[in-house]
Amino acid sequence: MGKISLNTGYCKSCGLCIRACTRGALSISGKTNEKGYRVIAADDMKCVGCGLCYTVCPDYVFTIEDQTGSEWTV
Ligand code: SF4
Ligand code: SF4
Repeated sequence: MGKISLNTGYCKSCGLCIRACTRGALSISGKTNEKGYRVIAADDMKCVGCGLCYTVCPDYVFTIEDQTGSEWTV
């Protein structure tokens, strides 16, 4: 299983990653970042580390790590 980390300070609540995630692991949370956007939250139990969110996010919110803990790159 993959691991995902988020820098929600960059999130603009556009929803692209939610539509891209085939696992239903992403949702808009109740938290707001310093830019005033409601930010993304990830469910680590559903996430498989496929990287689709990383690919579609225009604001570099996501970092995907592999099972060894190394940063995932494309
Ligand atoms: S890595 Fe894949 S499964 Fe995990 S949140 Fe992103 S799109 Fe969804
Ligand atoms: S695609 Fe990026 S900016 Fe858009 S909601 Fe998802 S994390 Fe936020």
